Amino acid sequence: MRVVVDLSRCEGYAQCAFLAPDAFRMHGEEALMYDPNPDDARRKQVLRAAAACPVQAILVDQLEGRDVSAEEPPS
Ligand code: SF4
Repeated sequence: MRVVVDLSRCEGYAQCAFLAPDAFRMHGEEALMYDPNPDDARRKQVLRAAAACPVQAILVDQLEGRDVSAEEPPS
């Protein structure tokens, strides 16, 4: 599964690190580190963490099957 955290939104509440410590980890007080490609076995944990994020910064499977580069505007 694919996980993206919008770090510009993340406020470092650490809810995700608490609920899915295998996928999300706080680095110091505020910096979040995460696994962008967690094992599917962690899906439940990760979805729970995404739902618990107070600022909805965690996006799950948003990019699946899409070519991200195709979304850039033509230059
Ligand atoms: S729960 Fe949301 S705001 Fe808190 S650390 Fe995780 S991603 Fe950031």
